[in-house]
Amino acid sequence: MSDPRYDCQACGACCVNPPENEAEGFRTWVEVAPGEPLLRRRDLVKKLCVVEADGPDRGAVHLRLDASGRCLALRGALGRRVACSIYARRPAPCRRVQAGAPDCRRYRAALGLANP
Ligand code: SF4
Ligand code: SF4
Repeated sequence: MSDPRYDCQACGACCVNPPENEAEGFRTWVEVAPGEPLLRRRDLVKKLCVVEADGPDRGAVHLRLDASGRCLALRGALGRRVACSIYARRPAPCRRVQAGAPDCRRYRAALGLANP
């Protein structure tokens, strides 16, 4: 259950590769698992996804990030006003994050956003 004190449309922190993930060398964040509806839209896959070329995750699909680690599907200004441009097709990990949950609070803190 999401905490109503949190406004996701004024946040977007979970749409950014967290510093701890980055520190471990991971340049990808949200996985798009086989069977996700997003994968049926080849135009969006081409624009917004990357396929791991090698390593243990070879063949895995992730959402593409910009140089700052932000998901390319995210529109707007972090911490102010944001929207997901593929909201109806966002993959499962995006749907799992609960506003106000420990992960959410950590992602927000990493971006310098206050937690209620
Ligand atoms: S980090 Fe939390 S408040 Fe921010 S968009 Fe994600 S779930 Fe919503
Ligand atoms: S697909 Fe949408 S909800 Fe998921 S990380 Fe990207 S912008 Fe955020």
